[in-house]
Amino acid sequence: SAGYHYLKHPINSKSLSTSKEERDAHRLRGLLPAGQISLEVQIDNAMEQLRSKSNDLEKYIYLQTIQDGSEDLYFGVLGRNLKECMPLVYTPTVGQACIQWHQIYRHTPRGIYLSIDDIGHVEEALSNWPQQDVKVIVVTDGERILGLGDLGVNGMGIPVGKLALYTACGGIDPKVCLPVHIDVGTNNIPLRSHPAYMGLRSDRVRGEKYYDLLQEFIRSVQKRFGRTTLIQFEDFGNTNAFDILNRFRDQATCFNDDIQGTAAVALAGLISSEKLTNIPLSRHTILFYGAGEAGTGIADLIAKAISKELGSPVSEARKKIWMMDSKGLITSKRENLAHHKLAYAHESASECTTLEDCVEQIKPSVLIGVSAVPGSFTKSVVEKMSAMNEKPVIFALSNPTSKAECTSEDAYTWTSGRCIFASGSPMPSVTLTLPSGESRTLEPGQGNNAYIFPGLGLGIMAAEATAVDDEALLVAANALARQVGDEQLKKGNVYPELDSLKSVSAKIAEEVAEHFFSVGLSTSKKPGDLTSYIKSLMYEP
Ligand code: NAP
Ligand code: MN
Repeated sequence: SAGYHYLKHPINSKSLSTSKEERDAHRLRGLLPAGQISLEVQIDNAMEQLRSKSNDLEKYIYLQTIQDGSEDLYFGVLGRNLKECMPLVYTPTVGQACIQWHQIYRHTPRGIYLSIDDIGHVEEALSNWPQQDVKVIVVTDGERILGLGDLGVNGMGIPVGKLALYTACGGIDPKVCLPVHIDVGTNNIPLRSHPAYMGLRSDRVRGEKYYDLLQEFIRSVQKRFGRTTLIQFEDFGNTNAFDILNRFRDQATCFNDDIQGTAAVALAGLISSEKLTNIPLSRHTILFYGAGEAGTGIADLIAKAISKELGSPVSEARKKIWMMDSKGLITSKRENLAHHKLAYAHESASECTTLEDCVEQIKPSVLIGVSAVPGSFTKSVVEKMSAMNEKPVIFALSNPTSKAECTSEDAYTWTSGRCIFASGSPMPSVTLTLPSGESRTLEPGQGNNAYIFPGLGLGIMAAEATAVDDEALLVAANALARQVGDEQLKKGNVYPELDSLKSVSAKIAEEVAEHFFSVGLSTSKKPGDLTSYIKSLMYEP
Protein backbone atom coordinates (compact mmCIF):
# COMPACT_ATOMS: atom_id res chain seq x y z
CA SER A 1 0.00 0.00 0.00
CA ALA A 2 1.02 3.64 -0.45
CA GLY A 3 1.18 4.19 3.32
CA TYR A 4 3.56 1.29 3.81
CA HIS A 5 5.93 2.54 1.10
CA TYR A 6 5.71 6.05 2.48
CA LEU A 7 6.77 4.86 5.92
CA LYS A 8 9.54 2.70 4.45
CA HIS A 9 11.17 5.73 2.86
CA PRO A 10 13.72 7.24 5.27
CA ILE A 11 13.21 10.71 3.77
CA ASN A 12 9.50 10.67 4.68
CA SER A 13 9.47 8.61 7.81
CA LYS A 14 9.21 10.34 11.16
CA SER A 15 8.75 6.87 12.60
CA LEU A 16 7.28 6.97 16.11
CA SER A 17 7.02 10.79 16.04
CA THR A 18 4.44 10.73 13.22
CA SER A 19 1.45 12.81 14.27
CA LYS A 20 -2.13 11.62 14.12
CA GLU A 21 -2.85 13.95 11.19
CA GLU A 22 0.07 12.60 9.18
CA ARG A 23 -0.96 9.05 9.98
CA ASP A 24 -4.36 9.79 8.49
CA ALA A 25 -3.07 11.80 5.54
CA HIS A 26 -0.60 9.11 4.46
CA ARG A 27 -2.77 6.06 5.24
CA LEU A 28 -0.57 4.79 8.02
CA ARG A 29 -3.34 3.36 10.21
CA GLY A 30 -2.18 0.13 11.77
CA LEU A 31 1.41 0.55 10.57
CA LEU A 32 2.64 2.20 13.77
CA PRO A 33 2.04 1.58 17.47
CA ALA A 34 -0.67 3.83 18.92
CA GLY A 35 1.64 6.04 20.99
CA GLN A 36 3.37 9.10 19.59
CA ILE A 37 6.92 9.55 20.87
CA SER A 38 8.61 12.95 20.54
CA LEU A 39 11.77 13.29 18.46
CA GLU A 40 13.64 14.29 21.65
CA VAL A 41 12.73 11.07 23.41
CA GLN A 42 13.63 9.03 20.33
CA ILE A 43 17.01 10.80 20.19
CA ASP A 44 17.73 10.15 23.88
CA ASN A 45 16.74 6.55 23.47
CA ALA A 46 18.93 6.13 20.38
CA MET A 47 21.92 7.68 22.18
CA GLU A 48 21.47 5.29 25.08
CA GLN A 49 21.44 2.37 22.66
CA LEU A 50 24.40 3.79 20.75
CA ARG A 51 26.51 4.15 23.89
CA SER A 52 25.79 0.58 24.92
CA LYS A 53 27.39 -0.84 21.75
CA SER A 54 30.69 -2.55 22.39
CA ASN A 55 32.81 -1.02 19.62
CA ASP A 56 32.86 1.83 17.12
CA LEU A 57 32.01 -0.29 14.08
CA GLU A 58 28.90 -1.57 15.91
CA LYS A 59 28.02 2.05 16.64
CA TYR A 60 28.49 2.94 12.96
CA ILE A 61 26.17 0.10 11.92
CA TYR A 62 23.59 1.14 14.49
CA LEU A 63 23.62 4.74 13.21
CA GLN A 64 23.25 3.50 9.61
CA THR A 65 20.25 1.45 10.68
CA ILE A 66 18.66 4.59 12.07
CA GLN A 67 19.42 6.53 8.88
CA ASP A 68 17.86 3.78 6.79
CA GLY A 69 14.72 4.06 8.91
CA SER A 70 14.32 7.81 9.34
CA GLU A 71 16.61 10.62 8.18
CA ASP A 72 14.89 12.96 10.63
CA LEU A 73 15.81 10.81 13.59
CA TYR A 74 19.34 10.21 12.27
CA PHE A 75 20.05 13.91 11.83
CA GLY A 76 18.34 14.66 15.12
CA VAL A 77 20.83 12.30 16.78
CA LEU A 78 23.80 13.75 14.89
CA GLY A 79 22.74 17.35 15.39
CA ARG A 80 22.43 17.04 19.16
CA ASN A 81 25.58 14.96 19.58
CA LEU A 82 27.83 16.12 16.76
CA LYS A 83 31.15 15.88 18.55
CA GLU A 84 30.41 12.38 19.77
CA CYS A 85 28.96 11.12 16.47
CA MET A 86 31.32 12.70 13.95
CA PRO A 87 34.17 10.22 14.55
CA LEU A 88 31.63 7.41 14.11
CA VAL A 89 30.02 8.70 10.94
CA TYR A 90 33.31 9.90 9.50
CA THR A 91 37.04 9.44 10.15
CA PRO A 92 38.29 7.29 11.82
CA THR A 93 35.37 4.80 12.05
CA VAL A 94 34.28 5.21 8.42
CA GLY A 95 37.71 3.82 7.49
CA GLN A 96 36.95 0.58 9.29
CA ALA A 97 33.46 0.56 7.79
CA CYS A 98 34.95 0.79 4.27
CA ILE A 99 37.47 -1.96 4.96
CA GLN A 100 34.56 -4.21 5.96
CA TRP A 101 31.85 -2.73 3.67
CA HIS A 102 31.32 -6.06 1.91
CA GLN A 103 30.62 -7.66 5.30
CA ILE A 104 28.44 -4.95 6.81
CA TYR A 105 26.47 -3.99 3.65
CA ARG A 106 23.04 -2.61 4.55
CA HIS A 107 20.41 -4.09 2.31
CA THR A 108 18.65 -0.83 1.57
CA PRO A 109 19.42 1.33 -1.47
CA ARG A 110 21.59 4.29 -0.50
CA GLY A 111 23.14 6.14 -3.42
CA ILE A 112 23.87 5.25 -7.00
CA TYR A 113 26.39 2.61 -8.03
CA LEU A 114 27.71 3.06 -11.55
CA SER A 115 30.20 0.76 -13.20
CA ILE A 116 32.22 0.77 -16.38
CA ASP A 117 29.50 -1.56 -17.77
CA ASP A 118 26.98 1.27 -17.42
CA ILE A 119 28.56 3.38 -20.19
CA GLY A 120 25.62 4.48 -22.33
CA HIS A 121 23.16 3.99 -19.45
CA VAL A 122 24.23 6.51 -16.83
CA GLU A 123 21.22 8.73 -17.28
CA GLU A 124 18.92 5.76 -16.89
CA ALA A 125 20.70 4.81 -13.66
CA LEU A 126 20.36 8.35 -12.28
CA SER A 127 16.68 8.40 -13.17
CA ASN A 128 16.19 5.36 -10.95
CA TRP A 129 17.02 7.51 -7.93
CA PRO A 130 13.70 8.57 -6.37
CA GLN A 131 14.61 12.23 -5.79
CA GLN A 132 14.62 14.48 -8.85
CA ASP A 133 15.93 17.57 -7.14
CA VAL A 134 19.49 16.58 -6.30
CA LYS A 135 21.75 19.53 -5.45
CA VAL A 136 24.85 17.93 -3.96
CA ILE A 137 26.64 14.79 -5.12
CA VAL A 138 29.72 13.26 -3.55
CA VAL A 139 31.39 10.78 -5.89
CA THR A 140 34.37 8.46 -5.52
CA ASP A 141 35.93 5.64 -7.51
CA GLY A 142 37.37 4.17 -4.32
CA GLU A 143 41.02 4.29 -5.38
CA ARG A 144 42.46 6.20 -2.41
CA ILE A 145 40.10 5.83 0.51
CA LEU A 146 41.44 7.99 3.36
CA GLY A 147 45.05 6.83 3.74
CA LEU A 148 43.91 3.21 3.31
CA GLY A 149 44.45 2.88 -0.43
CA ASP A 150 42.33 1.14 -3.09
CA LEU A 151 39.13 -0.25 -1.57
CA GLY A 152 37.11 -0.51 -4.79
CA VAL A 153 33.36 -0.41 -4.31
CA ASN A 154 33.83 -0.56 -0.52
CA GLY A 155 34.74 3.13 -0.84
CA MET A 156 31.01 3.97 -1.02
CA GLY A 157 31.18 4.56 2.73
CA ILE A 158 33.00 7.83 2.03
CA PRO A 159 30.33 9.60 -0.10
CA VAL A 160 27.67 8.37 2.33
CA GLY A 161 29.63 9.73 5.31
CA LYS A 162 30.54 13.05 3.67
CA LEU A 163 26.95 13.72 2.74
CA ALA A 164 25.86 12.99 6.31
CA LEU A 165 28.22 15.82 7.29
CA TYR A 166 26.81 18.10 4.57
CA THR A 167 23.50 17.79 6.38
CA ALA A 168 24.66 17.62 9.99
CA CYS A 169 27.23 20.43 9.68
CA GLY A 170 25.84 22.54 6.84
CA GLY A 171 22.11 21.98 7.02
CA ILE A 172 21.88 20.70 3.43
CA ASP A 173 18.55 18.87 3.15
CA PRO A 174 19.16 15.09 2.98
CA LYS A 175 16.59 14.96 0.15
CA VAL A 176 18.93 16.83 -2.18
CA CYS A 177 22.03 14.76 -1.40
CA LEU A 178 23.21 11.83 -3.51
CA PRO A 179 26.21 9.54 -2.86
CA VAL A 180 27.70 7.99 -6.01
CA HIS A 181 30.29 5.28 -6.54
CA ILE A 182 31.96 4.74 -9.88
CA ASP A 183 33.26 1.20 -10.13
CA VAL A 184 36.00 0.73 -12.70
CA GLY A 185 37.50 -2.31 -10.96
CA THR A 186 39.99 -2.51 -8.12
CA ASN A 187 43.65 -3.45 -7.98
CA ASN A 188 43.20 -4.66 -4.41
CA ILE A 189 43.42 -8.38 -5.15
CA PRO A 190 42.83 -9.75 -1.63
CA LEU A 191 39.69 -7.61 -1.35
CA ARG A 192 38.23 -8.49 -4.74
CA SER A 193 38.93 -12.18 -4.12
CA HIS A 194 36.64 -12.20 -1.10
CA PRO A 195 33.45 -14.12 -1.94
CA ALA A 196 31.30 -11.31 -0.54
CA TYR A 197 33.04 -8.49 -2.48
CA MET A 198 30.27 -6.78 -4.45
CA GLY A 199 32.15 -4.79 -7.07
CA LEU A 200 33.83 -5.62 -10.37
CA ARG A 201 36.55 -8.23 -9.88
CA SER A 202 38.95 -6.86 -12.48
CA ASP A 203 41.89 -4.45 -12.69
CA ARG A 204 41.10 -0.75 -12.77
CA VAL A 205 40.18 0.61 -16.18
CA ARG A 206 42.37 3.59 -17.06
CA GLY A 207 42.65 6.05 -19.93
CA GLU A 208 39.97 7.14 -22.40
CA LYS A 209 37.31 4.63 -21.41
CA TYR A 210 37.58 5.81 -17.81
CA TYR A 211 37.16 9.43 -18.84
CA ASP A 212 34.27 8.54 -21.16
CA LEU A 213 32.38 7.19 -18.16
CA LEU A 214 33.19 10.27 -16.08
CA GLN A 215 32.21 12.61 -18.89
CA GLU A 216 28.92 10.77 -19.35
CA PHE A 217 28.36 10.96 -15.61
CA ILE A 218 28.88 14.75 -15.52
CA ARG A 219 26.61 15.29 -18.54
CA SER A 220 23.89 13.04 -17.18
CA VAL A 221 23.95 14.74 -13.77
CA GLN A 222 23.52 18.11 -15.43
CA LYS A 223 20.76 16.88 -17.68
CA ARG A 224 18.82 15.12 -14.96
CA PHE A 225 19.40 17.45 -12.00
CA GLY A 226 20.55 20.76 -13.44
CA ARG A 227 23.69 22.61 -14.47
CA THR A 228 24.53 23.91 -11.00
CA THR A 229 24.24 20.66 -9.05
CA LEU A 230 27.45 20.45 -7.06
CA ILE A 231 29.71 17.47 -7.76
CA GLN A 232 32.31 16.86 -5.08
CA PHE A 233 35.12 14.52 -6.10
CA GLU A 234 36.36 12.50 -3.18
CA ASP A 235 39.15 9.99 -2.59
CA PHE A 236 40.21 9.43 -6.20
CA GLY A 237 43.78 8.21 -6.73
CA ASN A 238 46.13 11.09 -7.30
CA THR A 239 46.91 10.76 -11.00
CA ASN A 240 43.20 10.81 -11.83
CA ALA A 241 42.27 13.38 -9.20
CA PHE A 242 44.29 16.21 -10.75
CA ASP A 243 43.26 15.31 -14.31
CA ILE A 244 39.57 15.07 -13.45
CA LEU A 245 39.63 18.44 -11.75
CA ASN A 246 41.39 20.08 -14.70
CA ARG A 247 39.04 18.50 -17.24
CA PHE A 248 35.78 19.30 -15.53
CA ARG A 249 36.22 22.39 -13.39
CA ASP A 250 35.12 24.73 -16.17
CA GLN A 251 32.17 22.68 -17.36
CA ALA A 252 30.63 21.76 -14.01
CA THR A 253 30.08 23.10 -10.51
CA CYS A 254 32.66 20.84 -8.93
CA PHE A 255 35.64 20.67 -6.65
CA ASN A 256 37.95 18.01 -5.29
CA ASP A 257 37.73 17.94 -1.53
CA ASP A 258 41.08 16.19 -1.01
CA ILE A 259 42.88 18.86 -3.02
CA GLN A 260 40.83 22.01 -2.47
CA GLY A 261 38.73 21.40 0.65
CA THR A 262 41.77 20.20 2.56
CA ALA A 263 43.68 23.22 1.31
CA ALA A 264 41.13 25.63 2.71
CA VAL A 265 40.98 23.87 6.08
CA ALA A 266 44.74 23.75 6.47
CA LEU A 267 45.14 27.36 5.35
CA ALA A 268 42.49 28.46 7.87
CA GLY A 269 44.44 26.71 10.64
CA LEU A 270 47.61 28.50 9.59
CA ILE A 271 45.89 31.86 9.39
CA SER A 272 44.50 31.52 12.90
CA SER A 273 47.82 30.23 14.23
CA GLU A 274 49.20 33.72 13.65
CA LYS A 275 47.29 34.80 16.78
CA LEU A 276 49.46 32.37 18.76
CA THR A 277 52.80 32.64 16.97
CA ASN A 278 52.70 36.28 15.85
CA ILE A 279 54.13 35.07 12.55
CA PRO A 280 52.14 36.11 9.47
CA LEU A 281 51.74 33.57 6.69
CA SER A 282 54.26 35.27 4.44
CA ARG A 283 57.07 34.94 7.00
CA HIS A 284 56.79 31.18 7.43
CA THR A 285 58.97 28.55 5.82
CA ILE A 286 56.79 25.54 5.20
CA LEU A 287 57.81 21.92 4.72
CA PHE A 288 55.31 19.34 3.52
CA TYR A 289 55.83 15.66 4.21
CA GLY A 290 53.77 14.22 1.33
CA ALA A 291 53.29 15.88 -2.05
CA GLY A 292 50.06 14.34 -3.28
CA GLU A 293 46.54 15.72 -3.57
CA ALA A 294 46.42 17.13 -0.06
CA GLY A 295 50.04 18.36 -0.01
CA THR A 296 50.12 20.20 -3.31
CA GLY A 297 46.51 21.37 -2.86
CA ILE A 298 47.37 23.02 0.46
CA ALA A 299 50.65 24.39 -0.90
CA ASP A 300 48.95 26.00 -3.91
CA LEU A 301 46.34 27.74 -1.78
CA ILE A 302 48.91 28.92 0.77
CA ALA A 303 50.99 30.32 -2.09
CA LYS A 304 47.94 32.21 -3.37
CA ALA A 305 47.25 33.57 0.08
CA ILE A 306 50.87 34.71 0.53
CA SER A 307 50.94 36.35 -2.86
CA LYS A 308 47.79 38.26 -1.91
CA GLU A 309 49.27 39.24 1.45
CA LEU A 310 52.45 40.56 -0.18
CA GLY A 311 51.12 41.61 -3.56
CA SER A 312 53.83 39.45 -5.13
CA PRO A 313 53.59 36.79 -7.85
CA VAL A 314 52.52 33.27 -6.82
CA SER A 315 55.80 31.88 -8.16
CA GLU A 316 57.65 34.06 -5.65
CA ALA A 317 55.41 32.91 -2.79
CA ARG A 318 56.08 29.27 -3.66
CA LYS A 319 59.75 29.68 -2.87
CA LYS A 320 58.92 29.57 0.84
CA ILE A 321 57.25 26.19 0.41
CA TRP A 322 59.14 22.90 0.23
CA MET A 323 57.82 19.42 -0.32
CA MET A 324 58.94 15.85 0.24
CA ASP A 325 57.51 12.80 -1.47
CA SER A 326 58.34 9.10 -1.16
CA LYS A 327 61.72 9.73 -2.80
CA GLY A 328 62.79 12.59 -0.56
CA LEU A 329 63.03 16.35 -0.96
CA ILE A 330 61.62 17.70 -4.21
CA THR A 331 64.25 19.85 -5.91
CA SER A 332 65.04 20.94 -9.45
CA LYS A 333 67.64 18.16 -9.63
CA ARG A 334 64.95 15.49 -9.44
CA GLU A 335 63.93 13.87 -12.74
CA ASN A 336 60.50 12.77 -14.01
CA LEU A 337 58.56 14.71 -11.43
CA ALA A 338 54.77 14.50 -11.65
CA HIS A 339 53.15 17.63 -13.04
CA HIS A 340 51.65 18.76 -9.73
CA LYS A 341 55.06 18.78 -8.02
CA LEU A 342 56.97 20.86 -10.58
CA ALA A 343 56.14 24.26 -9.12
CA TYR A 344 57.87 23.25 -5.88
CA ALA A 345 61.06 21.87 -7.41
CA HIS A 346 63.35 24.65 -6.19
CA GLU A 347 67.02 25.02 -7.00
CA SER A 348 68.49 26.19 -3.74
CA ALA A 349 68.65 22.89 -1.86
CA SER A 350 70.73 19.79 -1.99
CA GLU A 351 69.48 16.24 -2.29
CA CYS A 352 67.97 14.96 0.90
CA THR A 353 66.06 11.78 1.67
CA THR A 354 65.19 11.66 5.36
CA LEU A 355 62.74 14.02 7.01
CA GLU A 356 65.21 14.78 9.75
CA ASP A 357 67.87 15.90 7.27
CA CYS A 358 65.34 17.97 5.35
CA VAL A 359 64.20 19.75 8.53
CA GLU A 360 67.85 20.44 9.27
CA GLN A 361 68.42 21.88 5.80
CA ILE A 362 65.18 23.78 5.16
CA LYS A 363 64.64 24.99 8.75
CA PRO A 364 60.86 25.14 8.48
CA SER A 365 58.62 26.95 10.94
CA VAL A 366 55.64 24.88 9.75
CA LEU A 367 55.67 21.11 9.19
CA ILE A 368 52.63 19.55 7.53
CA GLY A 369 52.18 15.77 7.30
CA VAL A 370 50.01 14.48 4.45
CA SER A 371 51.92 11.29 3.63
CA ALA A 372 49.82 8.57 5.29
CA VAL A 373 53.11 7.32 6.78
CA PRO A 374 52.35 6.69 10.46
CA GLY A 375 54.88 7.78 13.05
CA SER A 376 57.03 9.64 10.53
CA PHE A 377 57.21 12.72 12.77
CA THR A 378 59.66 11.06 15.15
CA LYS A 379 60.92 12.43 18.43
CA SER A 380 64.10 13.71 16.82
CA VAL A 381 62.21 15.41 13.97
CA VAL A 382 59.85 17.16 16.38
CA GLU A 383 62.70 18.10 18.73
CA LYS A 384 64.54 19.67 15.80
CA MET A 385 61.44 21.74 14.98
CA SER A 386 61.25 22.70 18.63
CA ALA A 387 64.88 23.77 18.84
CA MET A 388 64.56 26.00 15.76
CA ASN A 389 61.24 27.66 16.56
CA GLU A 390 59.74 29.22 19.64
CA LYS A 391 56.31 27.99 18.55
CA PRO A 392 56.63 25.41 15.79
CA VAL A 393 53.45 24.68 13.82
CA ILE A 394 52.99 20.93 13.36
CA PHE A 395 50.00 19.54 11.49
CA ALA A 396 49.79 15.73 11.26
CA LEU A 397 46.88 15.48 8.87
CA SER A 398 46.96 11.90 7.61
CA ASN A 399 43.80 9.86 8.20
CA PRO A 400 42.59 7.70 9.77
CA THR A 401 44.26 7.90 13.19
CA SER A 402 46.37 4.82 12.42
CA LYS A 403 48.07 6.76 9.58
CA ALA A 404 48.86 9.95 11.51
CA GLU A 405 52.45 11.22 11.37
CA CYS A 406 52.45 11.65 15.16
CA THR A 407 49.96 11.93 18.01
CA SER A 408 48.91 15.02 19.96
CA GLU A 409 50.64 13.61 23.02
CA ASP A 410 53.92 13.13 21.14
CA ALA A 411 53.87 16.60 19.62
CA TYR A 412 53.05 18.41 22.86
CA THR A 413 55.41 16.34 24.99
CA TRP A 414 58.37 16.64 22.62
CA THR A 415 57.98 20.42 22.34
CA SER A 416 57.18 20.98 26.06
CA GLY A 417 53.76 22.22 25.00
CA ARG A 418 55.13 24.94 22.71
CA CYS A 419 53.91 23.62 19.35
CA ILE A 420 50.68 24.55 17.60
CA PHE A 421 49.30 21.15 16.72
CA ALA A 422 46.43 19.93 14.58
CA SER A 423 45.57 16.47 13.30
CA GLY A 424 43.33 15.04 10.57
CA SER A 425 41.41 12.62 12.79
CA PRO A 426 40.33 13.60 16.31
CA MET A 427 43.03 13.31 18.99
CA PRO A 428 42.81 13.73 22.75
CA SER A 429 43.70 16.78 24.83
CA VAL A 430 46.98 16.52 26.71
CA THR A 431 47.84 17.82 30.17
CA LEU A 432 51.50 18.66 30.65
CA THR A 433 53.51 19.71 33.65
CA LEU A 434 55.58 22.58 32.36
CA PRO A 435 59.21 23.20 33.44
CA SER A 436 57.85 25.99 35.68
CA GLY A 437 55.88 23.38 37.62
CA GLU A 438 52.43 24.61 36.53
CA SER A 439 50.21 22.28 34.55
CA ARG A 440 48.56 23.15 31.27
CA THR A 441 45.95 21.38 29.17
CA LEU A 442 46.30 21.65 25.42
CA GLU A 443 43.59 20.75 22.97
CA PRO A 444 44.60 19.77 19.44
CA GLY A 445 42.57 21.20 16.59
CA GLN A 446 41.12 18.78 14.09
CA GLY A 447 41.88 19.95 10.55
CA ASN A 448 38.66 18.30 9.49
CA ASN A 449 37.40 19.11 6.00
CA ALA A 450 33.93 19.28 7.55
CA TYR A 451 34.85 22.81 8.63
CA ILE A 452 34.80 23.86 4.97
CA PHE A 453 32.81 21.74 2.52
CA PRO A 454 29.35 21.96 4.12
CA GLY A 455 29.50 25.76 4.23
CA LEU A 456 31.06 25.93 0.78
CA GLY A 457 28.31 23.67 -0.59
CA LEU A 458 25.61 25.74 1.06
CA GLY A 459 27.09 28.93 -0.43
CA ILE A 460 27.21 27.30 -3.86
CA MET A 461 23.56 26.28 -3.52
CA ALA A 462 22.55 29.76 -2.39
CA ALA A 463 24.20 31.42 -5.38
CA GLU A 464 23.51 28.55 -7.79
CA ALA A 465 27.14 28.90 -8.80
CA THR A 466 28.34 27.62 -12.15
CA ALA A 467 31.93 26.94 -11.07
CA VAL A 468 34.08 26.80 -7.95
CA ASP A 469 37.06 29.09 -8.45
CA ASP A 470 40.17 29.15 -6.24
CA GLU A 471 39.17 32.50 -4.84
CA ALA A 472 36.07 30.85 -3.33
CA LEU A 473 38.36 28.57 -1.32
CA LEU A 474 40.42 31.51 -0.09
CA VAL A 475 37.22 33.24 0.95
CA ALA A 476 36.06 30.11 2.78
CA ALA A 477 39.42 29.70 4.55
CA ASN A 478 39.43 33.30 5.75
CA ALA A 479 35.80 33.06 6.85
CA LEU A 480 36.64 29.95 8.88
CA ALA A 481 39.74 31.47 10.47
CA ARG A 482 37.72 34.48 11.55
CA GLN A 483 35.43 32.26 13.57
CA VAL A 484 38.04 30.77 15.87
CA GLY A 485 37.30 32.22 19.29
CA ASP A 486 39.80 33.21 21.97
CA GLU A 487 38.62 30.32 24.13
CA GLN A 488 39.79 27.89 21.46
CA LEU A 489 43.09 29.67 20.89
CA LYS A 490 43.82 29.72 24.62
CA LYS A 491 43.76 25.91 24.56
CA GLY A 492 46.04 25.90 21.52
CA ASN A 493 43.21 24.91 19.17
CA VAL A 494 43.28 26.78 15.85
CA TYR A 495 39.78 25.63 14.79
CA PRO A 496 36.29 26.48 16.10
CA GLU A 497 34.41 24.24 18.53
CA LEU A 498 33.04 21.27 16.52
CA ASP A 499 29.62 21.61 18.12
CA SER A 500 29.29 25.09 16.60
CA LEU A 501 29.78 23.81 13.06
CA LYS A 502 26.32 24.61 11.78
CA SER A 503 26.60 28.31 12.54
CA VAL A 504 30.20 28.31 11.28
CA SER A 505 28.98 26.80 7.99
CA ALA A 506 26.22 29.40 7.66
CA LYS A 507 28.80 32.19 7.92
CA ILE A 508 31.13 30.54 5.43
CA ALA A 509 28.17 30.03 3.07
CA GLU A 510 27.29 33.69 3.27
CA GLU A 511 30.77 34.91 2.40
CA VAL A 512 31.23 32.34 -0.33
CA ALA A 513 27.85 33.16 -1.89
CA GLU A 514 28.67 36.86 -1.67
CA HIS A 515 31.84 36.09 -3.62
CA PHE A 516 29.97 34.18 -6.36
CA PHE A 517 27.49 37.03 -6.71
CA SER A 518 30.26 39.59 -6.97
CA VAL A 519 32.36 37.79 -9.60
CA GLY A 520 29.42 36.78 -11.76
CA LEU A 521 29.61 33.04 -11.15
CA SER A 522 26.07 32.92 -9.78
CA THR A 523 22.95 32.18 -11.80
CA SER A 524 20.39 33.23 -9.20
CA LYS A 525 19.31 36.70 -8.20
CA LYS A 526 21.00 37.96 -5.08
CA PRO A 527 18.46 37.99 -2.24
CA GLY A 528 17.98 41.25 -0.33
CA ASP A 529 18.86 39.58 2.95
CA LEU A 530 21.44 36.92 2.21
CA THR A 531 21.84 35.88 5.86
CA SER A 532 18.19 34.96 6.29
CA TYR A 533 18.02 33.45 2.82
CA ILE A 534 20.82 31.05 3.75
CA LYS A 535 19.13 30.23 7.07
CA SER A 536 15.94 29.48 5.15
CA LEU A 537 17.78 26.92 3.02
CA MET A 538 18.99 25.02 6.07
CA TYR A 539 17.24 21.82 7.03
CA GLU A 540 16.33 21.04 10.62
CA PRO A 541 15.04 17.58 11.57
P1 NAP B 1 48.21 11.01 -2.17
O1 NAP B 1 47.78 11.92 -3.26
O2 NAP B 1 48.32 9.57 -2.43
O3 NAP B 1 49.63 11.56 -1.64
C1 NAP B 1 50.45 10.92 -0.70
C2 NAP B 1 51.81 11.58 -0.75
O4 NAP B 1 52.61 11.03 0.30
C3 NAP B 1 52.55 11.32 -2.07
O5 NAP B 1 53.20 12.49 -2.49
C4 NAP B 1 53.57 10.26 -1.67
O6 NAP B 1 54.77 10.29 -2.43
C5 NAP B 1 53.87 10.69 -0.26
N1 NAP B 1 54.54 9.63 0.50
C6 NAP B 1 54.25 8.32 0.53
N2 NAP B 1 55.16 7.68 1.28
C7 NAP B 1 56.05 8.62 1.71
C8 NAP B 1 57.23 8.57 2.49
N3 NAP B 1 57.69 7.43 3.00
N4 NAP B 1 57.89 9.73 2.72
C9 NAP B 1 57.44 10.89 2.20
N5 NAP B 1 56.34 11.00 1.45
C10 NAP B 1 55.65 9.86 1.21
O7 NAP B 1 47.26 11.15 -0.94
P2 NAP B 1 46.55 12.49 -0.39
O8 NAP B 1 45.21 12.64 -0.99
O9 NAP B 1 47.48 13.62 -0.49
O10 NAP B 1 46.32 12.07 1.14
C11 NAP B 1 47.42 11.83 1.99
C12 NAP B 1 46.93 11.70 3.42
O11 NAP B 1 46.34 12.92 3.83
C13 NAP B 1 45.86 10.63 3.62
O12 NAP B 1 46.13 9.94 4.82
C14 NAP B 1 44.61 11.40 3.77
O13 NAP B 1 43.67 10.75 4.60
C15 NAP B 1 45.11 12.66 4.43
N6 NAP B 1 44.17 13.78 4.22
C16 NAP B 1 43.80 14.48 5.33
C17 NAP B 1 42.91 15.52 5.21
C18 NAP B 1 42.54 16.30 6.43
O14 NAP B 1 43.01 16.03 7.49
N7 NAP B 1 41.70 17.29 6.35
C19 NAP B 1 42.39 15.84 3.98
C20 NAP B 1 42.80 15.12 2.85
C21 NAP B 1 43.70 14.09 2.99
P3 NAP B 1 54.81 9.97 -4.02
O15 NAP B 1 54.24 11.22 -4.65
O16 NAP B 1 56.25 9.81 -4.29
O17 NAP B 1 53.97 8.77 -4.23
MN1 MN C 1 38.94 12.55 1.21
